Amino acid sequence: MVDLYGQYVRLKDEIDRAMMEVIASSAFINGPAVRTFAGHLSEYTGAEYVIPCGNGTDALQAALASLHLLPGDEVLVPDFTFIATVETVALLGLTPVIMDVDPDTFLIDPASIGKYITPKTKAIIPVHLFGQCVDMAPLLEEAEKYELKVIEDAAQALGAWYTFPDGTRKMAGTMGDIGCTSFFPSKNLGAFGDGGAVFTDDEGLAATIRSYVNHGTQKKYYHERIGINSRLDTLQAAILDVKLTHLDEFIEARQRVADWYDEHLGPLSFLRIPARAANTTHSFHQYTLVTRGIDRRHLMNYLKEAGIPSMIYYPLPMHRQEAFSGFPFYHKEFPVADQLCNTVMSLPVHTEMNEEQLDYITTYIKNYQHG
Ligand SMILES: *Cc1c(COP(=O)(O)O)cnc(C)c1O
Repeated sequence: MVDLYGQYVRLKDEIDRAMMEVIASSAFINGPAVRTFAGHLSEYTGAEYVIPCGNGTDALQAALASLHLLPGDEVLVPDFTFIATVETVALLGLTPVIMDVDPDTFLIDPASIGKYITPKTKAIIPVHLFGQCVDMAPLLEEAEKYELKVIEDAAQALGAWYTFPDGTRKMAGTMGDIGCTSFFPSKNLGAFGDGGAVFTDDEGLAATIRSYVNHGTQKKYYHERIGINSRLDTLQAAILDVKLTHLDEFIEARQRVADWYDEHLGPLSFLRIPARAANTTHSFHQYTLVTRGIDRRHLMNYLKEAGIPSMIYYPLPMHRQEAFSGFPFYHKEFPVADQLCNTVMSLPVHTEMNEEQLDYITTYIKNYQHG
């Protein structure tokens, strides 16, 4: 699905040099590269404060913990997402409230927020799934109306741009009160291990989050709150700082792959190519098709026979996860998420794909004989 080694080989000189510098200085924990990278990421995204941390899940947890919510407060989350979005809410003693998603874009529809609101609803986590932004202008209006804090889950969409009705553009993760991202190796900006970051323009929230991920500390050995230990490793920061200078190219390469797939798979009746949501660019963390009138497993096995990988993101919606069996949404009606989980299929999309590979994949899919 990805070619992490191929990308490394292409950037080897730059990356090796950056890693050797860290090793030579032996400042492995909170070394200067962490601060340098955070500064560059702030410039890149436009976020005033960037707080690096250990992974994207911790970023979400730190963001949620900084809002001083009370046990039982409700947080709106999509049904069709990676578990981290929902798990962190539950871990903090808050109550996730599941929203169904739009069948075309796979994203939450801001117009549906009203029907999930109760007096306990305090926050919402829009997930910019697969690389394109939730429609944030109407979402922020609804959030203001219902006094909700907004935490963007931009783990899959770093580098995607959203355009507001007045023409201003903002990057995924910088529109809500807080944004979170992940540097998991396969993400758009991937480390050689785990990593994550939190974005905010609010000085107070930034200070709280910074303290939370550092054992609740601002001054060493004086702990003002109960926190966690979640650091971005210095080696990872050095690698990410190199890769950040290439992120726009990475995204353009992903978009070229998606354009190729769209053009060649668009005419096939048994597949629906991914819809491009309004007002956002698509950074194509995943290229996710909806299969129509065919046995998805049969197609995936057919691909496998030709050495073409495919994956299901995601096979089970949040409302069917056993982990959430104690919550009221468990096994309730979320027809769109169910339908998507039963029909979606993702194809390889990464920065090292060439036309020969793409042609091989799409020609082979066009020859698929079904039903
Ligand atoms: C990857 C991902 C996360 C979590 O990131 P980690 O770095 O793996 O902890 C959270 N939300 C979404 C939507 C993700 O894709």
